[in-house]
Parts: sequence; C-alpha cells; structure tokens
Amino acid sequence: MTRRISIFGATGSIGQNTIDLIARDPDAYQVVALTGGANVAQLAADARRLNADIAVLADETRLEDLRAALAGSGVEAAAGRAALIEAATRPADWVMSAIVGAAGLEPGLRALQQGADLALANKESMVCAGPLMLQAARAHGGRLLPVDSEHSAVFQALIGEDLSEVERIIITASGGAFRDWPLEDLAKATPQQAATHPNWDMGQRITIDSASMFNKALELIETKEFFGVDASKIEVVVHPESMIHALVGFNDGALMAHVGPPDMRHAIGYALHYPQRRTLPVERLDLVRLGALTFRAPCDQRWPALRLAREVMDQGGLSGAVFNAAKESALDAFIAGQIGFTRMSEVVEEVLNRLSSQPGLIDAELTLDTVANADHLARQEARQICANG
Ligand code: NDP
Repeated sequence: MTRRISIFGATGSIGQNTIDLIARDPDAYQVVALTGGANVAQLAADARRLNADIAVLADETRLEDLRAALAGSGVEAAAGRAALIEAATRPADWVMSAIVGAAGLEPGLRALQQGADLALANKESMVCAGPLMLQAARAHGGRLLPVDSEHSAVFQALIGEDLSEVERIIITASGGAFRDWPLEDLAKATPQQAATHPNWDMGQRITIDSASMFNKALELIETKEFFGVDASKIEVVVHPESMIHALVGFNDGALMAHVGPPDMRHAIGYALHYPQRRTLPVERLDLVRLGALTFRAPCDQRWPALRLAREVMDQGGLSGAVFNAAKESALDAFIAGQIGFTRMSEVVEEVLNRLSSQPGLIDAELTLDTVANADHLARQEARQICANG
C-alpha cells in the first residue's frame, strides 16, 4: 500500500535527507506536499521528480518563479504562510516537520490535528509548545516521532521500558566548531567559522547553534517536554566523536546507549518505518577501527546557553517560546555581523530577564496565539538590544 507523505522544509538538510530515503523506493509513497522557504529551483526539481500534488514556498514573492518552474508538470504551485498551513491540513499518513525555527510549529501542529504521524525534526515546536504538540497527537491519533538524533536514540532506548524506572537521560554534544578554541578567542569568531561542524553536515543555523550550544540547550528542553522527565534527570555530556547520541540510565544502574555514525538518515529512516526497522543506507560502524570514544563535562563559561536552558525548564510556561525567539533573533544578528558570537547568549539572557518580569506573559495559558505573542515580544526586545551592539 502506498503511503501519503508530506515534507515541510523539503529544500533543507533534513528535507533532502528525507527525500533521499523516499526516492529509493518511489512506488511506496505518494507525495502530497513538499515545501520550501525560498529555494525555487530545488523545490521544483524535487516536486517534479517525486510527482508531488503540491509544492509550496513560504516566500510569496517567488510564486511566479515557482509556477514557471513547474509549468507542464501537473504539480500545483502555491506560496505564503496561509498556503503552507493549508498544505499541512491535506490528508497524509506521515509528515516530516523540518522547517527551521518557530515557523515550523504551526504546520506540524496542523498535520497532527489532521491525524497524521509527525516525524519531528523541528525541535523548536517542542521548546515553544510541547504540551500542545503532545495533546494534538493524543487527541487525533497521530504518532509524534522524534527525528533529532538524540531524541530518536532515547525513544529507541525506552522501547519496552517503564519511564518510572528511568534514573537519568544523557544527551551528547559534539561541542561544535569552537569546542577546543581558547575562551578568549570566542568573542571574535565569525559566522563562517561557526558554521563549520566537525562531524555533522547540517543547515547553517543549527550548525552555528551547535557551536554556541544553543542547539543542545533547545534539545535539553525538548527532552523534558518529549519524554516528560524531570529536568534534574537530564544531563549533557560532550562527546567529540558524535557516535553515541544519547544514553538512558535505569534504577538498576544499567545504561542503554544508542551508537551510530553521524548520519541523519538513521533517525529519519527510523521515524519513516517505525515501528519496523528497515535496511537503511547508513555506514555500519567498525568498532575496532573506531578504537576509542571520549567524553567530557560541558564548560559553563564556554556554553552559557546550557545554564539558560535549565532556567527555562525551571520556569516553564511560555519561557521556552521567549528563549527560542530571542535565540533566533540573536542568531540573525550574529549572521548579519551586528553582534559578536558571545553576545548571543547575553542577548537571550537579557530578553528572558526582561520578559519574565512582565506580569501574565510567561504563565499565560499555552495556545498558538500566546506562543505567537511571546515570540513576537521576544524578537522585538532582542532586536532592540542587538541594535545597540
Ligand atoms: P535547513 O536550514 O537546512 O533547512 C530549513 C528548511 O526550512 C528549508 O527547507 C528552508 O527553505 C525552510 N524554511 C526556512 N525558513 C522558513 C520559513 N520562515 N517558513 C517556511 N520554511 C522555511 O535546516 P535543517 O534541515 O538543518 O534543520 C531543519 C530543522 O531540523 C531545524 O529545526 C533543526 O534544528 C532540526 N534538525 C536538523 C538536523 C540536521 O542534521 N540538519 C538534526 C536534527 C534536527 P529554503 O532553504 O528553501 O529557504
């Protein structure tokens, strides 16, 4: 039986890896929607190749270009935020949520609300609105399947286990581009240097977030939200080789580790075929050749983002939405050369401090509207702070 699938963020790194997997078995899938941000050529080429029902661009100004690129193909072209949301409501069995940033929240939520299984790469959804995502999955019968390699690893280690017997969850971090840089050089790091990852081939934004550890900070919050474990049970360990993605520790002292090469097609393929395990085109590890794996504690001074994530987990409510939006804004400013690398965490902390003291903001009822409001205010504050350097 063919499965109807949609890929949000199809033109990005996760989207392209997803397409790599489904294109190997085209008869098994009917592609409903493919979406991109602004990359017309990639979106049109994939939509033609996979014979998608519809291709949607977030950038409305490129609609005519998309139409021209799809002319004669029979693929419907659309653009803009409303079209993106409409595409998420089209019936599908499995949807990949791989838009980067908070922009990925609503399409993923809408896909869950129409009962699809949602493969979730967009960690920002869980950081901003974890309870809404879980509730939508429960209410409409779709499964929420983690795609972040750490969360996929935890998910796999927990199969058949009782969550009440989990003592700790350890997620690993490569340490990113500046793991071994002298601390005093970090303030001068450029976006180009930060966007070079030692192990993973990912989109620009998540790669810079790996260097600052904001990525791991988001993943700490995602772990708490996804698995419903207390923040005190979640640890981060720096593991430069990126072979162990996460470990789950149980009451009896046992630690279950998920080991594999840094290739996102494992986690994507696992979510695509769940609960089955199908053959995937990923490298098989040669442990003898690997020889040794190393671990170290994360340095608070180098990566203040981790401390901020713990504060957000303690605070709860809409602080995740504020944290994420402030981070996205600070990252924009860093990429634009407006602020330095180490300034990003200072900006985020300042925004969190300012908005946490606004009555009724952080502890408002969690809805798409209150998330959007917190997101908007946090970006506004962050832009103002960044404008002063
Ligand atoms: P990329 O930057 O490579 O791709 C992002 C995708 O989102 C592209 O299709 C892009 O379109 C689209 N996009 C960007 N802005 C918007 C917008 N405002 N509205 C709609 N679409 C938009 O990111 P990644 O693939 O690296 O990451 C995607 C998500 O997966 C992120 O949440 C990331 O944290 C997560 N993730 C990524 C991993 C990885 O290995 N890359 C690992 C684990 C999680 P276009 O390019 O056409 O402009």
